[in-house]
Amino acid sequence: MRIIRYFIKKRLGQQKELPWWTWVAPFIILFLCAYASQQLTIPTGSILIYLPIPVAIILVHWWGPRVLPGLLLNAIIVTLYWDQTDLTLHPLVIFHETACVLASWCLFSCQKRGKSWLPDIVNVLRFIVLGIIIPISINSGLLYFSKDVSLEYLSIVWTADFASSIALALPLLYFVSPWMERHGYSIQQGSQYVKPTLGLRLVRNQRFEIGISFAGLLVLSLVLPFEKFWFIHGLFSIYIGVRFGFGLSLLANLAVFLVTYVVPYFTMNTGENSWILEAGLLNIHFGMCLLGITACVTGRVISDLKAIERKLNQQFNELEQVHDELDRFVYSASHDLSAPLKTILGIVAVSKLEKDTSKYMVYFDKIETYTKKLEGFIKEILDYSRNKRLDKSAEWINLRSLTSEVLENFLHTDRLPEINLKIIDQEAPQFMADRMRMKIVLNNLLSNAIRYQHFNNAHTPAIIIQSEISHQHVMIHVKDNGHGIKKEYLGKIFNMFFRASVDSCGSGLGLYIAKEAVKKMNGKITVRSIHGKGSIFTVHLPKN
Ligand code: ADP
Repeated sequence: MRIIRYFIKKRLGQQKELPWWTWVAPFIILFLCAYASQQLTIPTGSILIYLPIPVAIILVHWWGPRVLPGLLLNAIIVTLYWDQTDLTLHPLVIFHETACVLASWCLFSCQKRGKSWLPDIVNVLRFIVLGIIIPISINSGLLYFSKDVSLEYLSIVWTADFASSIALALPLLYFVSPWMERHGYSIQQGSQYVKPTLGLRLVRNQRFEIGISFAGLLVLSLVLPFEKFWFIHGLFSIYIGVRFGFGLSLLANLAVFLVTYVVPYFTMNTGENSWILEAGLLNIHFGMCLLGITACVTGRVISDLKAIERKLNQQFNELEQVHDELDRFVYSASHDLSAPLKTILGIVAVSKLEKDTSKYMVYFDKIETYTKKLEGFIKEILDYSRNKRLDKSAEWINLRSLTSEVLENFLHTDRLPEINLKIIDQEAPQFMADRMRMKIVLNNLLSNAIRYQHFNNAHTPAIIIQSEISHQHVMIHVKDNGHGIKKEYLGKIFNMFFRASVDSCGSGLGLYIAKEAVKKMNGKITVRSIHGKGSIFTVHLPKN
């Protein structure tokens, strides 16, 4: 029941998003595969490998059940016109392939939500068991009931289907699925797939090694009969898997498949004394199954281990960076907190000695200034910790109302009324972002734009806040015509505790916190500035 409900609600709904030709293409592709299989016959007339099954298994995980009518039509045509062993149209003869492919889709894609780009060992094993082994067993079972066939014949069919699915379906799903998904040709949408790689990042020597290995395999296949020396092909696949990981182990399997089943048709006599007949199909198929599965599992484990190693290295570097930052933070913060406190204590000590009570106001004003400085610094530390601690959220942002909210923090600033402040933004909210972090960023940029202004009669201080929204990105510019920043400091102003001029009265933390908050929203912050003329800070964010 769960499968049927899921099928109707989710999967058939998603089908509409695929291009129309995905209804027609399966039949054409599968018919061509059936035709190609007809060419790969052994001298007894039996088909060596029946390609429509592995190919339909690939297609059903890209395009869903719309592949099934084409497969059914192909099965009817093949049974009616090509099947030399049984011309009676038993329903199971027509349905066994369709049932096999439907089972593969239901079990792997629909029920287990398997990822067709096989990103890890769990998905690979799941695909081998749920997407191949159980479906082809269903296929063989139905075949047994529909035709009067021997167990040996069934074993040949089973091993051939397994070997061909491992050799063809795995590399095509792994390499092509991300491309299909990116271009909207797959029912799987929105997965965070990793770009498929040809193993590890290859250097020139490794490319040479791969070229030599594959050429060696081709030469060996011409002189060594597979049925006797299949373990040599197996060693080749496993060696490639261990050396270069999953992507190349799949290509190695494909190469072994081609040199075993296809190349002999062009290089050998397929008459009475054919090697295939001598060897026995079962031996060949069984050898292919064993080495195929061993190589791809080994390759996947090696790739997974390498990925874990890369991740660990990256986390270690990040941890080291955080540790360094924390060290600097503790040192600078304790210094910046104690400096105003010492000054306040000094002023209190001096004021106690003062006899003239009219001067007390001057001392109070000074204490107030330093206390505000302390308060500002503690607020920045709180912003820093809030940004590190709290999870991301997303809501519609109206730049106008957010700016007004932030400006309330500066109402006590006498300078604010002197500034010509302009907001260029639509009335309706245009983008989604984390409101708390946006407030931190805007607060820091605005406080700097106000703080580093020229206030004299010859100059009209101006600040413009402007949003620019494109298809996928949002840019928020904060422009001012204040002091500007010297070119040599532009690369450093986002560093922790960096102050770019001697008259900087802040902690040097503001832009660092802004940068970290924007980073948390998956964006970045940039600056353009001309010393003496003004600065433009731009926050770049993804639109949603
Ligand atoms: P601070 O608390 O010192 O302002 P920030 O991290 O916010 O620390 O800024 C770092 C430095 O960058 C400041 O000391 C200042 O010299 C410079 N700066 C930042 N914004 C501006 C601006 N809008 N105009 C000129 N200089 C700026």
